[in-house]
Amino acid sequence: MATGWRVPPGSTKVTLSGPGLNRDQYFDYQSTTPVDPRVLDAMLPYLREDFGNAHSGENLFGRRAREAVELAREQIGRCVGSDAEDIVFVSGATEANNLAILGTSRGHTGTRDTVVVSTIEHSSVLEAARASGCRVVSIAVDCNGLVNIEALQEALTDRVLLVSVGVVNNEIGAIQDIATIGRLAHAAGALVHIDAAQALAAMRLQLTDLPVDFVSLSAHKAYGPKGIGALYIAPGCRPYLSRLLHGGGQERGLRAGTLPTALCVGFGAACEILTRLNGEEFRSVAALRNSLLQAITRLAPRVELVGSTTHRHPGNLSICLPVEDARDVIERLQWEIACSTGSACQSGSELPSHVLSAIGMSTTDARRVIRLGIGRFTTAAACNHAAAAIAAAVAEVSGSNS
Ligand code: PMP
Repeated sequence: MATGWRVPPGSTKVTLSGPGLNRDQYFDYQSTTPVDPRVLDAMLPYLREDFGNAHSGENLFGRRAREAVELAREQIGRCVGSDAEDIVFVSGATEANNLAILGTSRGHTGTRDTVVVSTIEHSSVLEAARASGCRVVSIAVDCNGLVNIEALQEALTDRVLLVSVGVVNNEIGAIQDIATIGRLAHAAGALVHIDAAQALAAMRLQLTDLPVDFVSLSAHKAYGPKGIGALYIAPGCRPYLSRLLHGGGQERGLRAGTLPTALCVGFGAACEILTRLNGEEFRSVAALRNSLLQAITRLAPRVELVGSTTHRHPGNLSICLPVEDARDVIERLQWEIACSTGSACQSGSELPSHVLSAIGMSTTDARRVIRLGIGRFTTAAACNHAAAAIAAAVAEVSGSNS
């Protein structure tokens, strides 16, 4: 039957039979993280016996679901340093980004008509900004992916409605100075949205201390399930937002649709674990990431780090390989480790990553980059294995190219 779906150019059809890979061999944590088993355990009752509709408060099933959803909201709020009531559930960071950008562009009443973004934003920010009908101003980043603050200051006229910047970049892991960006934007009278999809697994957020109005969150980047995220709305900022979905009055009228109880519970449980870890995990993951880089460069000395050594997601390693096309290396590695060229949302595209172009890489160099993402379940032994496998694949591919 013709479905209309096509295998993207450059990708091979993979049948997942054969030996497969285990969780240890997964090096693509910025694409998605494995669901923590504790998260899954918390979710399962809400897919089995507690299947009620959280919006049907008239019966016990509904009330139990409602209680679970509200607990999850509290857990998420506690994790990011906000009140539970400022958290609105959505399907993920893509929707949260759309709600913040399209919602403010449709909801505002004044004369401001410009959205400011950085050149390395996720496609869901860039596309939503383009679709908003506002003028879009893109701010350049430096070779490490950090927003040029002077260029931002110049762009901050009284026409700017919203400044939207990602806290942690998904390809090169760059961490922005949100305190400065938010302060400058507020001083110019603009609203501030941050895409924090990658931030939960990278840093402790204390939103009430940050000069931000809207924050996008995603569960599946932080050991929770896919298909659930949230938009944090700072106190007093609700009136600036127009809803995108029309239907029931769920989520205080901002996001119509029946809440997926199990997914909300999973997101809450993932956040509760992060709160308890209190940043400890970020330090151990960064140490492992640094030793992985050392092991790779010891075995393959011409490999170079892309992006910042300091302002970086602890589990992110973006490296430039001495080969013509990094996809040849990834293909050779496919039964050893799972990694990628960069953004999962762009896979299949023949265009060089807009992030790598924005930090000044040539198209030729951008084709040589792979992204390794590690996290909670990565072991030192798996890193040693990965380093050896990468060095061997690089030697094989560069040998076959020369
Ligand atoms: N923003 C960033 C920075 C991301 O990395 C992603 C996921 N790749 C998204 C937004 C979209 O998140 P979701 O998958 O939850 O829609």
